Amino acid sequence: MRIKLENFTKTFDHTTVIDKMNLEVNDGEMLALLGPSGCGKSTTLLAISGIHRINGGRILFGDKDVSGVPSQKRNVGVVFQNYALYPHMTAFENIAFPLEVRHASRDEIDREVRQIAELVHIDRYLDRRPGQLSGGQQQRVALARALVRKPAVLLFDEPLANLDAKLRLEMRSEIRRIQMETGITAILVTHDQVEAMSMCDRIAIMNEGQIIQIDTPTDMYRNPKTQFVAGFLGNPP
Ligand code: ADP
Ligand code: MG
Repeated sequence: MRIKLENFTKTFDHTTVIDKMNLEVNDGEMLALLGPSGCGKSTTLLAISGIHRINGGRILFGDKDVSGVPSQKRNVGVVFQNYALYPHMTAFENIAFPLEVRHASRDEIDREVRQIAELVHIDRYLDRRPGQLSGGQQQRVALARALVRKPAVLLFDEPLANLDAKLRLEMRSEIRRIQMETGITAILVTHDQVEAMSMCDRIAIMNEGQIIQIDTPTDMYRNPKTQFVAGFLGNPP
């Protein structure tokens, strides 16, 4: 599903944090929103997911204006850095939750949860609670829960920030594998350039509520168009 932001504007208490942003994410693409802390990455993601309403402009999924469509009806999966799993529920119940809300049948729930658990390689741990899982496994459960309703769009907000270095490396390639296997359109919010570069088809560099440059990782490093981009990227890893 193609995502398009047209003059997207967001204000908090009379302060404009995003001013007429334009952005297009191609169907099946994984795009990184990369920039320093406070530049507006999460705000942009929350607007696309429908969790935040926008103060100006439009958000399109395909040709459809979803600006006024509530979050639950946007067909979007979101993964946050703190996983936000329910601690008293098993992995199975956590993944099943979005289907329960939709009153799916027992059989359907069972089938869908097992299918998605296999995709994210968590099928052996479905009867464990989050406290009995490692950080990486918890993140896999969160990913499965975001995917179980087969969303058209998958949004990640710093999904690897809470993982140790080894798990971070492993989950980088896992998230990319799952995105490519499902062909889902995805946006990855991160302040980590290596993450953006290794996981995404294109990178949009943000600063102070604006997109400064959008390019493939290679072109971005070869040809930074502003001092800011050159400075932010530093030396390529
Ligand atoms: P990032 O995710 O890039 O670190 P955010 O999108 O969280 O940045 O924040 C962008 C700006 O908007 C920051 O100046 C932040 O303080 C402000 N902001 C974010 N959320 C709120 C809120 N709920 N109320 C007021 N200001 C906010
Ligand atoms: Mg943020």
